[in-house]
Amino acid sequence: MSYSPYFNPELETMSRAELEALQLERLQKTVRHCMNAEFYREKFAELGITPDDIQSLDDVRKLPFTTKDDLREHYPFGLACVPLRDCTRLHSSSGTTGNPTVVLHTQRDLDEWANAVARCLWMVGGRPEDVFQNSAGYGMFTAGLGFQYGAERVGMLTVPAAAGNTLRQIKFIKDFGTTIVHAIPSYASRIYEVMKEQGVDPRRDTQLRILCIGAEPHSEEQRQRIEQNLGVKAYNSYGISEMMGPGVAFECQEQNGLHIWEDYFIVEIIDPVTLEPVPDGQLGELVLTTINREAMPLLRYRTRDLTRILPGECACGRHHRRLARLQGRSDDMIILKGVNIFPIQIEKILLKFKELSTDYLITLETKEEGDVMTIEVELSQLFTDDYAQLKNLEREITRQLKDEILITPRLRLVNKGTLAVSDEKKAVRVKDLRKLF
Ligand code: ADP
Ligand code: ZN
Repeated sequence: MSYSPYFNPELETMSRAELEALQLERLQKTVRHCMNAEFYREKFAELGITPDDIQSLDDVRKLPFTTKDDLREHYPFGLACVPLRDCTRLHSSSGTTGNPTVVLHTQRDLDEWANAVARCLWMVGGRPEDVFQNSAGYGMFTAGLGFQYGAERVGMLTVPAAAGNTLRQIKFIKDFGTTIVHAIPSYASRIYEVMKEQGVDPRRDTQLRILCIGAEPHSEEQRQRIEQNLGVKAYNSYGISEMMGPGVAFECQEQNGLHIWEDYFIVEIIDPVTLEPVPDGQLGELVLTTINREAMPLLRYRTRDLTRILPGECACGRHHRRLARLQGRSDDMIILKGVNIFPIQIEKILLKFKELSTDYLITLETKEEGDVMTIEVELSQLFTDDYAQLKNLEREITRQLKDEILITPRLRLVNKGTLAVSDEKKAVRVKDLRKLF
């Protein structure tokens, strides 16, 4: 059967001018609607602005920022813009550091969320003939229900396998003829490792063809590793619960940046210190304004995620701008001896070495000689017993790491299975044990 390459041709391929007109209309409506929340009424009063001040898209910069702390302080329902009786679901973040953040949805919000995810899945090639298996946790974690409803909207046969139990995941993949899997990247690697242990060859024994990987930072090298190991195309999926969850931005088949759906969001990239916009192409903090939400619209939400806008048009025919691969959050950045380092820079080097697996842990400690970084990384198989060969490998990896991050880490190559990675949660890549004083 031949299908359109677009799930929603009109919204996906509209020209920039049409898209921007739609954005302005939706922004003005959203700002007026925000006045239902005391939180925004007060912010507007402080800034001396009213919804009538929003006359162009650039006027978004007159609006107040919203932060995760604002959501926490007004926990649980302080930013609701509709009565609770009109809401049909809430999601919340883990809340390890104080009150969790709560996000409310009306039925229309859930519907539009499903449309956004369906658009993403269709964009990477998902069709009603596909069998879609979701290995994300169901429940409060938005990637569970978020992908579920999106895949159902495409009309795929869905397998809500949920998180964990890798042997069962693999059995489902084989028995149900799963063609598309959604997994966080660290878990995609785990599925492959367990397949190997079980003698399952993904190319021979499964019909897998697409992986949607997201929810945590990962390098291009990690994507390629997943593609080669599992014999699939792997697409980057960016989501954040405060904006809804998955479906915010997604790679198309060009695999060159993630289209962010500008009929849902107004995108800004700012300098996190001066809060001023940075020029297109420059790295900064992603700030998003929801323009297609009823229950809890958010103005200029500071995601803390660092990325940049990719200049130029995409060959796929969509004019929604593209974000570069997310670098990690501003608070993931390691500052060691005055040097700024992102874990993803380290991963990029490690994964160039076939002898290494995708599991690694960065530990920062204060020693007598000052702060030191130790990188433990698992060997991909019992690579060799040859001490000299291992030492050579260690030296070469260390040299390349130093070139990338400008300091020399202590490197420890450890056997497979030494670093416990969880089946269920986003991988923990950094342990900071430094003494502050
Ligand atoms: P939390 O992790 O705070 O419990 P979320 O589940 O909403 O809450 O996670 C959203 C965050 O996950 C984003 O802000 C971002 O830091 C990270 N993230 C999501 N998708 C990606 C991706 N494709 N690449 C890198 N980071 C991602
Ligand atoms: Zn594209």
